[in-house]
Amino acid sequence: MEEYRIVSFSGGKDSTAMLLRLMELGEPINEVIWCDTYKEFPAMYRHVERVKAAVKEAGIKFTVLKNEYSFDHYMFDREITRKNSSINEKYNFPNGFSWAGPRMRWCTRTMKLDVINKHLSALKKKYRLIQYTGIAADEQFRLERKANSGHIHPLVEWGWTEQMCLEYCYSKGYDWEGLYRKFDRVSCWCCPLQSLDNLRTLRKEFPDLWEELRQMDKRTWRNFRADFTAEQLEKRFALEDSRTAQGLTVEPRNKDFRKALKEALG
Ligand code: SF4
Repeated sequence: MEEYRIVSFSGGKDSTAMLLRLMELGEPINEVIWCDTYKEFPAMYRHVERVKAAVKEAGIKFTVLKNEYSFDHYMFDREITRKNSSINEKYNFPNGFSWAGPRMRWCTRTMKLDVINKHLSALKKKYRLIQYTGIAADEQFRLERKANSGHIHPLVEWGWTEQMCLEYCYSKGYDWEGLYRKFDRVSCWCCPLQSLDNLRTLRKEFPDLWEELRQMDKRTWRNFRADFTAEQLEKRFALEDSRTAQGLTVEPRNKDFRKALKEALG
């Protein structure tokens, strides 16, 4: 079978660095694939457009993959037959998968993996695929995952760590409009699995997206996180702002802070 070289591009710093460097080295690439979850940061969409233009200019095919149904469709409207009758009873047969949780990351599978695998399966019927994956040298534990076996990992071969990838991208003029200076991880802006620090930053730096997240939480049956709804987080962050302005502690284990938080949450 004819060989076909394909780069999995997530839009993040590692796969961006890998792709830019592979192109610089003149590596023969047939296609670059990127999967849109519908919930990327606006700056990420603009970054992908820039990379896409560079890829096309190099004469390489750039394919945008996307589930035909939106994230919101699966989250709010999808009709689901549930085996777990307690959810049906508690929430009166709700539609949609609602927010992802640590043990139920439906969106990773439905909005990304299934869409990518469908595309790759079609290619595998015609070609012998050679896949490049952007796993950084300091993330080698990811190599053990079955999904990454048999791929080429240039960043590991080059010894490029996550920090080196970021610096390489900056040196080439790609800076995601500062997203990586604000967040330690950049993924879907509404991800409930991101850290509290990232959510604080989202509220402060992207108030329109934060407001959209609050509205999403009101529309769905599962709380945003096991410990806080979006409304409770809003109250917590507002309390932190006000206490910081007064020079009071916002240390989560501090007794005074905990008491004030309890009162704020009612
Ligand atoms: S980043 Fe979060 S919201 Fe986005 S697909 Fe992954 S688990 Fe789901």
